[in-house]
Amino acid sequence: MGKKKKDKDRDGKKARRKDEEGSGAASGTPFSDALRVGDGFVLADVDPRATPAFDGDKQAGKEALLAADAELDDLQERLYAGSKEGGTRRVLLVIQGMDTSGKGGIMRHVVGAVDPQGTQITAFKAPTAEEKEHPFLWRIRRALPEPGMIGVFDRSHYEDVLVVRVHDLVPPAQWKRRYATINDFEQGLVEDDVTLIKVMLHISADEQKVRLMERLERPDKHWKFNPGDLDEREHWTDYQEAYQAVMDRCSPPHAPWFVVPADRKWYARLAVQQILLEHLRGLDLQWPEADFDVEANKQRLAAM
Ligand code: AMP
Ligand code: MG
Repeated sequence: MGKKKKDKDRDGKKARRKDEEGSGAASGTPFSDALRVGDGFVLADVDPRATPAFDGDKQAGKEALLAADAELDDLQERLYAGSKEGGTRRVLLVIQGMDTSGKGGIMRHVVGAVDPQGTQITAFKAPTAEEKEHPFLWRIRRALPEPGMIGVFDRSHYEDVLVVRVHDLVPPAQWKRRYATINDFEQGLVEDDVTLIKVMLHISADEQKVRLMERLERPDKHWKFNPGDLDEREHWTDYQEAYQAVMDRCSPPHAPWFVVPADRKWYARLAVQQILLEHLRGLDLQWPEADFDVEANKQRLAAM
């Protein structure tokens, strides 16, 4: 869709943009390193207004986000092109967070900047009757990205140890087993050429209150409000404990979580974009070599 046309002038332009402004006011530490969950992680110690790995203000953050779009687009296309030549690599970005934490904004402003043909977004709601008849990972497996694709989960299998744990939607003995089940599942994904990136958007209770009130005060946001969100808000502490348990039990070195402070929307979007970019860069994605004789085809075309 117009993509191939852009290619010719893109590469040179892209490289320049990256040098000139791509890193914006980044402090030098990769976002992934600043935000990765390791041993001894304490969610309650993360300041939701902090901006790790970025020294700039809101304006600089918004500019840095836009400046990196081209590189993201380029790397996605390389990933996709590689799969056409038999590459099996794919990316899965999992986004979790409390209501109003900005998951939708990540879909629009970060994932939305990438070619829609190369991305595959799945939003997980409360399981349907059919989904309930299957093990909790059934619907997750069906939504995994194909080789060459960037899959994005708006909520995920983690709901099965978050909302399910907070409300005991299944007996505790059952949800307690799921941490180990999830670790095994994710280990399998990583072995199966999935670059797994798990992001929690971390907002404060105060910021959630502001965002929920905005949804109530603005008629154009009423559609986003669900009275049930207030019931969930009453369980804020239980949810924070459930997230802490996820970080304690499901953040091994091969499939770590990244906790992104999200009270500032501009920062959360930039951080998720940069974490995704850093992972894509790490794949060292090359354009596949032509499996035809380029010179012979040039000569043939020139003579036509
Ligand atoms: P939203 O993301 O605002 O559209 O809301 C989706 C709702 O689906 C949230 O309230 C989630 O807690 C709920 N949900 C997602 N996955 C599950 C699950 N596995 N079990 C129960 N509820 C879920
Ligand atoms: Mg909602």
